[in-house]
Amino acid sequence: MSCLFCRIAEGSIPASKVYEDDEMVAFHDIHPQAPLHVLVVPRAHVATLNDLSPEHDAMVGRLQRRAAAIAAASGYGESGFRTVMNCNADAGQTVFHIHLHLLAGRSLAWPPG
Ligand code: 5GP
Ligand code: ZN
Repeated sequence: MSCLFCRIAEGSIPASKVYEDDEMVAFHDIHPQAPLHVLVVPRAHVATLNDLSPEHDAMVGRLQRRAAAIAAASGYGESGFRTVMNCNADAGQTVFHIHLHLLAGRSLAWPPG
C-alpha cells in the first residue's frame, strides 16, 4: 500500500496519535502551522473531497465533531480553532487521502493565503 495516510492509519508508519477508533485516526502534523495542528483522517481511503459519495456523509460529520472535541480537550474550545480540508492543487493538497486539519493556539488570519 503506497498511501502515506493509509499506512499511518494501519500503524505501519509511526505518528503522534491523539485519538483513534474504528473509523478514523488523529495525529499531530509533522510540520505544525499552529501551536495545535492535528490531522483527523478517516481509515477509508478517499483521495480528495471530489471523491466523496453520500455514504461518506456521516463519516465527514464525525471527523468535524472529533476535531471540535480534540480542540476542546486541548483547551481551545472557547478561544477558537479552524478546520480545513484542502482539495487539489490550488488549495495546496499534498497528501491524496482526505484529512481535516485542526489548527488552534494562535490568531488565524482571514482570508487565508
Ligand atoms: P495537505 O497539504 O495535503 O492539505 O496536508 C498534508 C499535511 O500532512 C501537511 O500539513 C504535512 O505537514 C503533513 N504530513 C506530511 N507527511 C507527514 C507525515 O509523514 N507525518 C505527519 N504526521 N504529517 C505529515
Ligand atoms: Zn490512503
